[in-house]
Amino acid sequence: MRLTHWIDGGPRDPASGGWIEVFDPASGQPFAEVARGNRADVEAAVSAARAAFPAWSALPNDVRAGWLEKLAAALEARLEDFARAESRDGGKPLKLARDAEIPRAVSNLRFFAQAATQFASESHHGQAGLNYTLRQPLGVVATISPWNLPLYLFTWKIAPALAAGNTVVAKPSEVTPLTATMLGELAGEIGFPKGVLNIVHGLGPEVGEPLVAHPEVRAVSFTGSTAVGRRIAGIAAPLLKKVSLELGGKNPTVVFSDSDWQAQLPTIARSVFQNSGQICLCGSRLLVERSIYDVFRDALVAHARKLKVGDPGDPATDLGPLVSQAHFDKVTRAIARAREEGGTLLCGGEALDRPGWFVQPTLFEGLGPDCDSNREEIFGPVATLQPFDDDDHALALANACDYGLSASVWTRDLDRAHRFGAELRAGIVWINTWLLRDLRTPFGGTGQSGLGREGGSEAMRFFTEPRNVCIALPR
Ligand code: NAD
Repeated sequence: MRLTHWIDGGPRDPASGGWIEVFDPASGQPFAEVARGNRADVEAAVSAARAAFPAWSALPNDVRAGWLEKLAAALEARLEDFARAESRDGGKPLKLARDAEIPRAVSNLRFFAQAATQFASESHHGQAGLNYTLRQPLGVVATISPWNLPLYLFTWKIAPALAAGNTVVAKPSEVTPLTATMLGELAGEIGFPKGVLNIVHGLGPEVGEPLVAHPEVRAVSFTGSTAVGRRIAGIAAPLLKKVSLELGGKNPTVVFSDSDWQAQLPTIARSVFQNSGQICLCGSRLLVERSIYDVFRDALVAHARKLKVGDPGDPATDLGPLVSQAHFDKVTRAIARAREEGGTLLCGGEALDRPGWFVQPTLFEGLGPDCDSNREEIFGPVATLQPFDDDDHALALANACDYGLSASVWTRDLDRAHRFGAELRAGIVWINTWLLRDLRTPFGGTGQSGLGREGGSEAMRFFTEPRNVCIALPR
């Protein structure tokens, strides 16, 4: 299988003539090749997007919304195919792709179709004339997305960009390029206007960087690692280009003795291990009130030991493999480091003795807030437990990290919930839940977790330029 670019409404082979192998993480074997794009492909995609911009941006909002609705409906009709492709490409359990991730991609397209018809701007009067704000699309914008939630995050970016009237050059991860390629083809099948959505594949330095630096690209929406986010910020800053950076996380899960933690244990465990911990929002630092520490730890360990690691296509599977050899090496190195730092292994800690990149659910205790295991993102099925004595101690431990993406707090005390909601250093705080998402809410992190917010009107604002028009009023 050869996965080509999608440029100007059609498939396009890479200008370089080069291809990159795409692996099935459950077998460790290559099953496809994806275009190894370069600057020439970026040039072609940007030029198609530039040519398509005047007509697309001039469409009435409801007509643009209609196209996104149509794409959503076409994707929904092919949900099973896309779920199978996503599971094969990324190794995630098929049921996760089928029940959560592809439906969410459909919702993203639908949500922003509706946003296109609802988006409005402000007016200001009573002080100095009559002012109204125009919110105009930027032009050609770039989106760059990671491998962990391939279509879900791809659509989370292209949908608001298109809804706001921009044309897009999107770069999916070279590790999981399958469903984005399929979406391009689907757009072609429904007659989506040519050049409005372009997809270029390839490696970050060869395709991502020329895209970020391209003078016609007005804004860059990036989700991925903090290291690459920093690099993109470095390229975009001297060009004074708008960037949104959704980066890594090292999220605390704070469990109080007054919580209903026994009943909530499956959700707490899911927050640690879903998608083998390869979700930026997964909790990887469990902070547990000392009075329940031992009993909570033993229950969580027992739960983790029961999770089934294996074939992503098996409905009984809870955890599939990690996405790639490189990522498997990173996660197993992090497990070795946790041991070297003096952590006590509570469960897991080993790779499965079979082909593919499988790692057992792994928990450590005995590691303090300053060690690398509690400071650096691992992005695998690996978490630590630390006890705390009171609210101040819990907050200090939770905030003892340069990342600030999300946090979850488990308590029945309302005052405490409000205090943690206000004082945790994180862009998203969940109380007695995890990954419950209203797509209208601001989404993003602080500190090393990024810059800017996605979601709802935040995304529509990011992808538009405000202009104030001031009209003198008769005295
Ligand atoms: P990554 O940073 O390696 O790659 C992300 C994307 O950037 C890929 O498409 C890649 O090809 C591209 N890229 C790589 N180098 C580039 C460069 N120099 N210039 C331009 N583009 C470049 O991240 P990943 O390993 O694919 O994804 C995992 C990371 O993503 C984790 O750190 C995770 O926390 C983060 N993530 C964050 C969120 C969020 O919303 N905050 C969501 C999902 C994942």
